[in-house]
Amino acid sequence: MRRARTVAIVGAGPAGLWAGLRLAEAGAAVTVFDHMASPARKLLLAGRGGLNLTHSEAREPFLARYGTARAALGPAIDAFPPSALRAFADELGETTFVGSSGRVFPTRFKASPLVRAWLGRLAAAGATLRMRHRFAGFGSDGALVMDGPDGRTTVAADAVLLALGGASWPRMGSDGGWVALLEAAGIVVAPLVPSNMGVEIAWSAGFTDRFGGAPLKRITLACGGRSVAGEAMITTHGLEGSAVYGLSAAIRGALATGAAASLVVDLKPDLPANTIAARLATARSGDSLSNTLKKRIGLAPQAVALLRESAGRDLPRDPEALAALVRGAPLALKGVRPLERAISTAGGIRFEAITPDFELLTRPGLFVAGEMLDWDAPTGGYLLQATFATAEAAARGMAVRLGLSLPARRVRGW
Ligand SMILES: Cc1cc2nc3c(=O)[nH]c(=O)nc-3n(C[C@H](O)[C@H](O)[C@H](O)COP(=O)(O)OP(=O)(O)OC[C@H]3O[C@@H](n4cnc5c(N)ncnc54)[C@H](O)[C@@H]3O)c2cc1C
Repeated sequence: MRRARTVAIVGAGPAGLWAGLRLAEAGAAVTVFDHMASPARKLLLAGRGGLNLTHSEAREPFLARYGTARAALGPAIDAFPPSALRAFADELGETTFVGSSGRVFPTRFKASPLVRAWLGRLAAAGATLRMRHRFAGFGSDGALVMDGPDGRTTVAADAVLLALGGASWPRMGSDGGWVALLEAAGIVVAPLVPSNMGVEIAWSAGFTDRFGGAPLKRITLACGGRSVAGEAMITTHGLEGSAVYGLSAAIRGALATGAAASLVVDLKPDLPANTIAARLATARSGDSLSNTLKKRIGLAPQAVALLRESAGRDLPRDPEALAALVRGAPLALKGVRPLERAISTAGGIRFEAITPDFELLTRPGLFVAGEMLDWDAPTGGYLLQATFATAEAAARGMAVRLGLSLPARRVRGW
């Protein structure tokens, strides 16, 4: 009888757990290692925000979200499109729905039932989970060096997958410690930088006491020639929220030039400046400027205060100048929030270092998947979609190498 093919996976996040399930169900003897005490910590954290699994938009705009990584990720996402991810959630007993923004969520807005069912299926397929085992590099024979509760061991397997994530929210496990280890092994890694992160703005004294936590709804933000519609929230440090996150790359680029960078806030993107000016011109004498802005164009108090953060205490009295400020209030950027506080990580193992099957060119038999690869995408479900799709592609590559066939999956179009 042929010996079972062995697979070692390091990283029990969605990428590692997905590839582990696929290969275990194909008949491989799978062991998933992770240095945390329990699996899928970051996915569970994402569940607290409702777990936006994927997005319902059409293929072309969907793939365009991956920017320069579109060509590298496109085939993997075509082979494992949003419908495949939704079908998996269904199989685990978590039906999904499309929200008003087009984002796809599990009906219960949680990750924990999904993770529980997933781990149950992994166990049923015979996979072993070994927690508190930290990947510490490669031995001279190429085997994995693992630090576990019983000390240092080496792990050899017929195929290995590293799915170690990025470096945001390191308390959840992905701390980017792998970068130095892989670089030492000659693997090219683009520096890890924050993505989908907040920005830092030097608010004036008292502004955040009053408006910290206040939302800026239906706005457009612009930076470096790009603009994104959405929402933002005023924080002690600056701004957070979907519109800020969608500009991550542009903001990083603007700050990297070393010149003064700003984020331009359009507080009334749906109202032409001349309409705003005309409405402001009909202000009642005796009304304060704040009242006029509230009554004539519906600006919330935090939006009016933001105009003062941009232009100083004395706002322009001229309706046209004030309308122009409402449509484009620049805020000087001090920087971005640190990687530890970002939702995701840009940078990682460069696509030039891997084959289309996500196998390292310099280390045959060693595959990589998930957020540790050099791609970036906005929030909206694109992060988990690429994580699953790259894990599926790596699992397929590993199966070929091991002479196994992955169980067929039902994919209902895109
Ligand atoms: C607050 C928050 C909310 C989010 N919400 C969403 C959302 O709604 N939708 C969405 O698409 N995405 C969301 N994301 C992003 C998403 O969670 C990640 O993109 C996804 O988890 C990446 O999966 P991964 O398996 O590649 O890495 P991870 O989930 O980070 O898993 C990597 C695993 O590797 C382990 N590991 C790391 N280093 C070692 C080592 N040296 N040895 C052993 N184990 C190691 C870690 O402990 C971890 O378990 C969110 C992220 C955050 C922080």
